[in-house]
Amino acid sequence: MADDNLKRGLSTRAVHAGEEIDPTTGAVSVPIYQTAPFGFPTAQALEDAFLRPKGEYIYSRMGNPTVRALEEKVTALEGGGNSLAAASGMAAISTVMFTLLRPGARLVAYRDLYGGSSGFFSRILEPWGVEVIWVEVGSEQGDGAVLREALGEGADLLYLESPTNPTLKVVDIARAVGFARESGAKVVVDSTFATPILQRPLELGADIAVHSLTKYLGGHGDTTGGVITGSTDLIAEIRTRLIDLGGIMDPMAAFLLLRGMKTLKVRVERACENALEIARFLEARPDVRRVNYPGLESSPFHETAGGQMAAFGGMLSFEVDGDLAAAHRVVDSLKLIKIVPSLGSVETTLLLPAVSSHYKFSREEREAMGVPDGLIRLSVGIEEIEDILADLETGLAAL
Ligand code: PLP
Repeated sequence: MADDNLKRGLSTRAVHAGEEIDPTTGAVSVPIYQTAPFGFPTAQALEDAFLRPKGEYIYSRMGNPTVRALEEKVTALEGGGNSLAAASGMAAISTVMFTLLRPGARLVAYRDLYGGSSGFFSRILEPWGVEVIWVEVGSEQGDGAVLREALGEGADLLYLESPTNPTLKVVDIARAVGFARESGAKVVVDSTFATPILQRPLELGADIAVHSLTKYLGGHGDTTGGVITGSTDLIAEIRTRLIDLGGIMDPMAAFLLLRGMKTLKVRVERACENALEIARFLEARPDVRRVNYPGLESSPFHETAGGQMAAFGGMLSFEVDGDLAAAHRVVDSLKLIKIVPSLGSVETTLLLPAVSSHYKFSREEREAMGVPDGLIRLSVGIEEIEDILADLETGLAAL
């Protein structure tokens, strides 16, 4: 069962993964190598670094020791051969797509994606000449016949997120990978909502896992970053493209993200425990119409999530019994929970998708997507559960 797995989790490797005591100075935290270029003692050393490279650092856009430490830590957490850090989640995603796709390529994507990703596909990739085919998550059709048909013969890439934003749908990743393999497509999974503590897409057969480090891996809402993990060969190819495009991570960001990741496992464990209690609390209330959380036994995604995740995550959404004005009243009455258009931090935060991530869609379109006016998305933090529940109780009383 998912909860037992969470307790076993990743063992203490999650804390120390990829971090050694600094061999030169003995520093116990990774030093911030805040430098753009690296100097060479002789002309011969310079020539060797360029012509006969042995992993020397030359220029921070091409590699930096603090950033490299972060990449090693993520590889240890996520599995796979190697990782590559980028300036943001979107820098990571766009660099992967520009490496794996060409004009004329066919990309199949699940419709429930972070708006920045779906916008990038339609605003940049489609005009570039990539054919984008959208499929639905969750329906038997989306996971089966329609997905197979969309992939057809010779699709180049299947792109998905699981769990999804903001309706917390769960894609059966291994099954989707099976269909992609039949058509020869590679599979990229945005695993940001799950973190490597709960889900490791490469073990489920995916070729690439991406994360916005800005969310859970950083965990404190103070740093932007992204990361890509895959086989050594694929990451080498994507690294070359990232060096060309330039969306690299800064050493200071790498340091802050490394520090955040030391507590990833305990933060995620606590957020999962809190989220399950909150989901049960909300589900029992008559003034809440619907709760989207794969940890609830009533969720249509409960079984799939239990099969591929160690626990059900810290994200959930719920629909209050009322219109947009009612949702505003609830949100504006909260004292502890902050209104923040991000997620994965130690504090519990929320947003109203209808007036933020999904404002461009009409009400009808949003309702069809499961995003009505009264939907509130919660990113559950690590506070005392009694405090979060009391705050929600106060908010719902405003209905
Ligand atoms: N993927 C998901 C699931 C996200 O929620 C986000 C941002 O909200 C991103 C990717 C993009 O990450 P970033 O803001 O770090 O570019």
